[in-house]
This record gives sequence, structure tokens and C-alpha cells, in this order.
Amino acid sequence: MSAGRAAIIGGTGFDLPEPGYREERVETAYGPAVLQVGGDGDPIFLPRHGPDRNIPPHLINYRANVAALAARGVDRVIATLAVGSIAEDLPPGATMVVDQLLDFTSGRRHTFFEGGSAGRRHVDVTDPFCPGLRARLIDAALRFGIHPRESGTYACANGPRLETAAEIRMYRLLGAHVVGMTAAPEAFLARERGLHYAALAVSINWAAGVRGRVHIDSDALTTMHERLLPVLRAALTQPPPAGCGCPDAD
Ligand SMILES: [Zn+2]
Repeated sequence: MSAGRAAIIGGTGFDLPEPGYREERVETAYGPAVLQVGGDGDPIFLPRHGPDRNIPPHLINYRANVAALAARGVDRVIATLAVGSIAEDLPPGATMVVDQLLDFTSGRRHTFFEGGSAGRRHVDVTDPFCPGLRARLIDAALRFGIHPRESGTYACANGPRLETAAEIRMYRLLGAHVVGMTAAPEAFLARERGLHYAALAVSINWAAGVRGRVHIDSDALTTMHERLLPVLRAALTQPPPAGCGCPDAD
């Protein structure tokens, strides 16, 4: 396996740059993306909601983001996902290494394979997150004293509105543990581009109806970056192990 670079996709509440990072605009066939790039050994940072954090989930150019990372030689990505908790064992502040995804989004440009010169392919997403990178993420979290739920299902709603209580009851019946608005199509596009992709969900509220109305836990939000950055850096130090479990991985 050729060792490429590592990247972090930062969601709500997760901010770089660290000192020494510079902003870099990358033009892709799908539009521009803005990366924050540090030294050679540092993970590239991609603020999912844009450098000014003002792009709502349904309008993010996920294809440009993933294509820009691939163009910079990235082979492994860990994303942070701010989520609402559906499962009772995930109070606000809790973390989960996601292993499954339910996609309820619509109207998003969700594939690179649009036929014609772009090609036609049906990628295998039985396990949409890289099992090898997930294991690295769990190990790193434990080393830093964070005890994530080690698996669980993320339901991706379209947003930007929050969900109804009935929608959350439906997601629970379907096996979801958390709900958010950004993991799809990001995880699927990463798979289409052959990137090893894992994600750490951080609960910032109980989902609608679980404890009444939604109240964002601002403490969970403001400490997210500080708590998680060392974990993500440690998990990304090495390339994913050979035979990580991703289909078509190098
Ligand atoms: Zn993999």
C-alpha cells in the first residue's frame, strides 16, 4: 500500500487551523474546495461547512470536498459528526465510532459516477466506514481516556431543519442510534474515490422527542475540538492496515 496523506473533515464544533496551517483553495471538476494544510506530516484539515462555517448541510459541495482531498494525495480520512442522540446510552457529550449509515437525504449531488465520461459503477458500501481505520480510532480514543460507543448506526436527515419526534421514533425503529445531516453522501463519495474513511460522532443534544424539545449542549460543542484533535491525529498516524476491509483498497 502506498502511504498517502491523512485528512480530518471537521464538522460543527470542530475547528482548525492549528498554528502553521495555511488555507488552500483547490479547484476540482465539481467546484472549488477550501483546505487547511499544515506540514508534510500533519493531517490536512477540511472544514466541512466551509472556511466561514456558513454552508448548511444540504448545500455542502461534498463532491468537491472529497475530490479535493483525493487530489492532494489523501488516502485516509476521519470525519467528525455533530449528532443528536437517539440511543439512551449516548447522552450529550458521548462519542460513537459509526459503523452503519441510513441515508434519508435528497437533492444532493451524491455520486461521482453519473454515466457518460464519468463512468458507471456500483460501489460496495456493505460496510460504509473503513473497518481498519475504525479500529485505529477506537484504540486512539481509549488511549486518550475517551470511551466511545464502538459501533452504531447514523441516520442522515436532509436538514437544515431538525427532525420531528415521529421521525426520530421511525429512525429508532430502523436501528439508528444517532441522527445528523452530513455523513451522507460524504462517506459514500469517499468510498467511490477509494479513500479509507471513518467517522467519530459526538452527541450535542438528545434528538427530538427523546427528552422533549431539542436543546444543544454548548459544553459538548465547545470542548469538541480540544478533546478530539489528539485522538484523530493519533488514529491517522499510520496508513490503514493492509486488508483493512475496504473494497478495492490499494
Ligand atoms: Zn479501509
